[in-house]
Amino acid sequence: MNAQLDAALIHVDGTVVYELSEDERQAVHDLYARYEELRGEPDQTLNPDALNACRNALHDAYGQVQLTGRLSTMRARLLDAASECPFCGAAPATTLDHHLPKGDYRSLSINPRNLIPSCQPCNRAKGTLDPVAGEGIIHTYFETLPDQTFLVANPTYVDGALVISFSVDAEVAEPPLSGRLEFQIGRLKLNERLAKSINTFLFELKPGMELLREIPNWRQAIRTHLQKAGDSFDRSFGMNHWKAAVVRSLAACEPFLDDPWSYLDNTAVLAVEPDEEVLL
Ligand SMILES: [Zn+2]
Repeated sequence: MNAQLDAALIHVDGTVVYELSEDERQAVHDLYARYEELRGEPDQTLNPDALNACRNALHDAYGQVQLTGRLSTMRARLLDAASECPFCGAAPATTLDHHLPKGDYRSLSINPRNLIPSCQPCNRAKGTLDPVAGEGIIHTYFETLPDQTFLVANPTYVDGALVISFSVDAEVAEPPLSGRLEFQIGRLKLNERLAKSINTFLFELKPGMELLREIPNWRQAIRTHLQKAGDSFDRSFGMNHWKAAVVRSLAACEPFLDDPWSYLDNTAVLAVEPDEEVLL
């Protein structure tokens, strides 16, 4: 951590942006330890007086966590650890989101544990959320999610168009976790934003389903195919990826199984009804 602080606060040519005293160095150590203890939950103790003088220097040092900054290797390491955005599972993680906003917690700006890989749309949609203990976006590094299916896709037909929205099974992910997950879906506008990804995804599944089109009992075959795809996505992406939720929901959606072809032949019909967005 000392090397990281030095890289953040001392230019490569040796020019010092801010010289941390030994006490301040210790205070940063203590702050990061406190952050771990609180598992990233907001708390007054994360703005200690001991860091009053260097708070702004630490905040501004985040500039060094950019592509060409002195902490760019830390940035690369954090981004490389995420194969895709942990919030939407639909795009690569290309940015770092401050779990606790750097405006409110200036001394935590370059704490790698507060920097969460995310895609740009999720980062933007989250915005600067006023942090409240026990509420808000789930901390990717600290929250252990149940190893059972709790993300549920809900397909409906609206004016002939297939609409898929997502919700959380509160019997599997129990409150308050279910509340946070629902909040996250709403805040990140996932019901709205995932529609396009679902279309692309189902379009990619189409060749496999087409093979089943010619067999007499294609309806049951497609149901089984979709269920098995769900199991396969669980194995590939971990439990509760939206892809698994979508195929499972379609395997149980009788109107879809009545005539999957009209949808698959024209996947552009999918749209999310704004009223169905989870707004909390
Ligand atoms: Zn995302």
